[in-house]
Order: sequence, then C-alpha cells, then structure tokens
Amino acid sequence: MTELLIINGERVSASDGGTFEVFDPSTGELLATVAKATKADVARAVAAAHAAMDSKTWGGLAPAERGRIMNRIAQAIRDRAEELATLESRDNGKPLRQARTDVQVAARYFEFFAGIADKIMGNTIPLGPGFLDFTVREPIGVSAQIVPWNYPIQIGARGVAPALAAGCAVVLKPSSEAPMTALRLGEIGLACGLPPGALNVIPGTGSEAGVALASHPDINQLTFTGSVDVGIGVAKMAAENVVPVVMELGGKSPNVVFADADFDLAAAGVANAIFQNAGQTCSAGSRLLIESKAHDAFVAKLVERANAMRVGPGVSDPDMGPIISKKQLETVERYVGVGAGEGAKVAAGGVRPTDPGLGKGYYFQPTLLDRVTPDMRVAQEEIFGPVLAMIEFDDIEQAVEIANRSQYGLVSGIWTRDINKAMSLASRIKAGQVYINTYGAGGGVELPFGGYKKSGYGREKGLESLASYTQVKNVCIKYT
Ligand code: NAD
Repeated sequence: MTELLIINGERVSASDGGTFEVFDPSTGELLATVAKATKADVARAVAAAHAAMDSKTWGGLAPAERGRIMNRIAQAIRDRAEELATLESRDNGKPLRQARTDVQVAARYFEFFAGIADKIMGNTIPLGPGFLDFTVREPIGVSAQIVPWNYPIQIGARGVAPALAAGCAVVLKPSSEAPMTALRLGEIGLACGLPPGALNVIPGTGSEAGVALASHPDINQLTFTGSVDVGIGVAKMAAENVVPVVMELGGKSPNVVFADADFDLAAAGVANAIFQNAGQTCSAGSRLLIESKAHDAFVAKLVERANAMRVGPGVSDPDMGPIISKKQLETVERYVGVGAGEGAKVAAGGVRPTDPGLGKGYYFQPTLLDRVTPDMRVAQEEIFGPVLAMIEFDDIEQAVEIANRSQYGLVSGIWTRDINKAMSLASRIKAGQVYINTYGAGGGVELPFGGYKKSGYGREKGLESLASYTQVKNVCIKYT
C-alpha cells in the first residue's frame, strides 16, 4: 500500500501518480512506498495552506482554541508513542530508546507551544498626549518547512508547533530518506482537530518538491534544516521572492575537556554527543578538544566506552544503530581514510563491524581518531557519522582558538570544575549554544537553538522561535 501525501486534509496520490521507496537502514529491506510530491502537489499544498489562513476554521480561530488542538496533538503523540518510535527506528535506524525520546520530545514541542498560543502579545509605545500606539504580532502566513532525515519527528515538530501556535499554516516537506513519522504527524493533527490545509505533509525529493517549495512565490516564510550547500541554494530561491528564511545547518561542534574535569561525567557526555544517532546529528560533538596533560587518561576512557558499544539494528535497541544509507556509510568510511592519510591515528573502530548478521545494513563502528590537528579535513568538515576527531590543547587561549577555528558554530561543550574557566570560555566561543558539564538538555525544547557562522541563522526552539513565525504590525492612533 502506498503512503499518500496529506494536502488540504486529505490523503492523496501525487499528481502524476509517482512514488518512491523507503528502506530500513538496519536491514536494507523495503519499508514503504510513498507518494512522491510534484511541483503541482506543492502548488496545491501552498494554496490549501493559504485557504486555511483565510478560513474561519484556522485563521479565524481564537488563539486559546489553537492551543487546545495542539495539546490534543501532544497527547495523541504520547498515546501512540510506541508505534511512532518503532516506525522512526525502522525508518531512520536509530536505537529504539532514542526514537522513544524523540517521540516524547515531539509531544513536548506541541505542549510547550500550545501554552504560548494565547500569549503572543504586542507592546504599547508611549508617544505622548493624543496618541495611542500599539503593536500586534500577527502570524507571518504560510510557513514552508524543509527537514532532514536524521530526527524526522523531532525536527518536524520543532518547526510545525511554533508555526501553528503563531497561527500560521504549514507545508512540511520531509526528507525522502525518512518521511514516515512526518506523515503520521499530519494524520494526528487532522484527527485532533486541525482543519484542512493547516498542516500539509508532502514527502518528495529535494530536486523536485524541495525546489518547488523553496521557490514558490506564495510562501511567506521558510524554515530549512539541512546541509550548508543545499541551504545556500534554498536561501537564494527564497530571496528571489523576498521570503524570510530560518537556516538550521551543519556543525563541527567542540567538546572542550580540561584536566580538572570529572572524567567519568565528561567521557559519558563526550561519547554520547558523538555516537548518539550514529553521529548523524547536526549538533554532534564531533571534535574533542582535550587538555594535553589529560590526554592519555581521558582517551583511554573513551576507547573503553567506544569498544564496549553494541552496534545493531535500531529495533533491537543497541547502543548505536546503522548509518542512514549505503552512500552515507561510504562517505564515513572515506573520511576515516582521509584522516589516516593526514596523520590521524585510529584509536577505536574505523571499520564496519565484522558480524555477518549485520551484513545487509549500513553499519560502522564507533570511531575515535587520535592525534588530529586543527586544520585536518577530519577536524574541519562535517562527517555526519560516528567519528570523533580528538585534538590536544595546552591552555585556555589555545582551546578558544581551536574551538573557533571552524566555519561552523552550532553547539559547544565545556568540561571543568573551575567555573571561572568555564565562563571565560563560554563567553568567547562562537556558537549558538554552550553547555557546561553537560551536552544537550533532554531535547532542549525550551532553549533557543541555532547557528553562528555557517551553521545558519534564525533560532528554533524556545520562545525565540516565535520571532520567525510572526510579524509585527504597528498601529498608531491620534485622538483629541
Ligand atoms: P540535505 O541538505 O541533503 O537535505 C535536507 C532537506 O532538503 C531534505 O528534505 C531534502 O530533500 C531537501 N533538499 C535537498 N536538495 C534540495 C534543493 N535543491 N532544494 C530544496 N530542498 C532540497 O540534508 P540531509 O542529508 O537530509 O541532513 C543532514 C544535514 O542536515 C547535515 O548537514 C546536518 O548538520 C543538517 N542538520 C541541521 C540541523 C540543525 O538544526 N541545525 C538539524 C539536523 C540536520
């Protein structure tokens, strides 16, 4: 059975009847056949979203009622958590418990933003006698959202929830690598009372549906989450129509570990930051900056952890699942070769697992590259796999310099018992988020998230994200 698009509240085939196949990266087996949105489908979805904005059932709805619908969506996601987590695990390959966390985080996005729907307020501005001036934050309109395959339900909810809370209508284009849970989100939205057109879900390729959506003249805002090169192209298309964009791009985030850190805490945090989702995380802590005098002791701890990790099919709930595709697996493998060629030493992993039971999936072992220097390609380029580049530093000045010697600036972690050192570094690191003695915070729904430099611009998550989905209207009244 083909999974259909969701446009204007209906499940529909693609305009030309086209489909694409989705595979389970744990086994290489077919998971689903999905309708492939065309340019005409994108146009239908955008038109449906505008109709919803103009309707009494969505555009005319009281904000509190929007919040009620969103709370129902949060509850429905929780009610279907196990089914959604299993589907996410099969679609993306991630271990079941990570998929369960992702589903809970998705529910939390709807809950968090449900509470805000009726609290999006403007200001009054004092102009003196005879004037009343106030601002209103109006929904920006139709939000186009293009998302990647690595956290489909979480990143889907991350953009959809604030947009709906603000009163926008959404056209969501999931990645063709892992589109399944975005479709479930669309179904759940309808079942919970979203009117037709408020949330349209149109899986398809980047080159057709993605381009058609990014360049559509009638979208009012675009949220893009993906790679830098594609993001630049998308931003250019949006610029042609003067459409504002949120760019959530890649990273090469550093975890800076000082010799006075709690090593057990730091090793657990550093390992999780790179091996979660098999390293296919925009905010992966893919560079370790380790103080030289602590190098041997800390690296030994990491090697022990990496070697103990169980790699296997997502639904068997291993420590680490497969890479999303054969192509991506080959990229990861190639990068390990590049690192070795540049002089890095493989301290753990570096190869595919030998277990013949894993032969059909796209597995790679948790990999530690030691003796990396800051300008090596493996220290500069986003690998998007379970490969940690480990670099030594001698003092805080050098740590800052190396941490910032990157085109990216998404997230960073600092591990030390010295609050002065931590705060000094936190203020000087160029990254959108800084964590001290932790890395990530339970999904971080409440915390503004986004990049410095080529990691992007605009902020998702938290109250900050509402700025992207609203526009300010100033009303000035003169009275006598
Ligand atoms: P990608 O850039 O290849 O694709 C992202 C989305 O864009 C997909 O839906 C894809 O179909 C679509 N797309 C592809 N070409 C397009 C085009 N020409 N026009 C319009 N849309 C197009 O990225 P990916 O491989 O899916 O995801 C991995 C990348 O995403 C990594 O670089 C990662 O760091 C980044 N990412 C960033 C964040 C963040 O929040 N900053 C989160 C997750 C992933």
